[in-house]
Amino acid sequence: MKRFALLGEPLGHSLSPALHKAIYRQLEIDDASYRTVELPEERLKSFFTGFKVGGFDGVNVTIPHKASVIKLLDEVDSKANLIQAVNCVNRVGNKLTGYNTDLLGFAYSLRQNEVSIEGNEFAIIGAGGSAQAVATVLAEGMAKQVSIVNRTPENAERVKETILAVNDQVKVKLVDEEQLIKRAKHMDCIINATSIGMSPNTKPAPISADVFTENTLAFDLIYNPLNTSFLKAAESNGAATVNGLQMLVAQAVYSVEIWMGGNIVAHVDMNALVRDLEKIIK
Ligand code: NDP
Repeated sequence: MKRFALLGEPLGHSLSPALHKAIYRQLEIDDASYRTVELPEERLKSFFTGFKVGGFDGVNVTIPHKASVIKLLDEVDSKANLIQAVNCVNRVGNKLTGYNTDLLGFAYSLRQNEVSIEGNEFAIIGAGGSAQAVATVLAEGMAKQVSIVNRTPENAERVKETILAVNDQVKVKLVDEEQLIKRAKHMDCIINATSIGMSPNTKPAPISADVFTENTLAFDLIYNPLNTSFLKAAESNGAATVNGLQMLVAQAVYSVEIWMGGNIVAHVDMNALVRDLEKIIK
């Protein structure tokens, strides 16, 4: 039996166990389990001591441990190391390796929604771990310009550094809401990478509706609720919208691929998984 888990705190009504079980069902894997392990920071080290000697075969990591697990790993993939955020750990023997599949999930969802990155202009609201993943994808894809709006300027500065480390041809601006509104007509895609609007605190929107036009795509990393205050604001100004559910599904499938090997992504019906989760969230 292969054993997998999600580490974080709080985990409340996490969708991940249902999602992973649905992935195993689709792949006809009947010897794998996935559970949540709610863990405060001070218990992380002892958990990893057990993990290393065989407690689990792999884990996903979520808020607030994505950065703090890094020091407990033997190896970290270069992108996860660049953004200092690990959401997937694989154990081979006694060796633990960290990856970031949020980044792969975000890139997957952009592709599925036919969002081209090269030469286009983006804005990221937020500057935490997921904003770093988004920034890396945009820099790799050769975005023309990325504007960052965030409450804490130092964190926005770190996202800027990440973008320029990946691709110094991208024009990066740290802006406020008013400056973003002035830039609205140039904006191809605005991404909410804050936790503002996440259930149960579904209001207010993280940014004014005036940043959107009918030519903007609004992408919210949040998936619960499905139609967030950010996406409603975008719709009110005629913008197209994408929520974070497809990204959530894809990051999980990429994690399973890392743990089990093979070309799992190509063998999973991601849309069916999205539909299953939509029924749970609604
Ligand atoms: P972090 O805690 O690392 O970052 C949160 C960001 O939100 C920070 O920039 C923070 O600003 C900002 N923020 C939070 N509260 C406020 C507030 N009240 N006012 C202004 N800014 C605020 O979280 P993550 O980056 O890991 O996750 C962000 C969101 O993305 C979450 O909702 C998460 O569920 C979602 N997510 C979705 C994924 C998916 O697969 N769909 C994958 C990963 C994340 P500051 O820097 O000032 O503290």
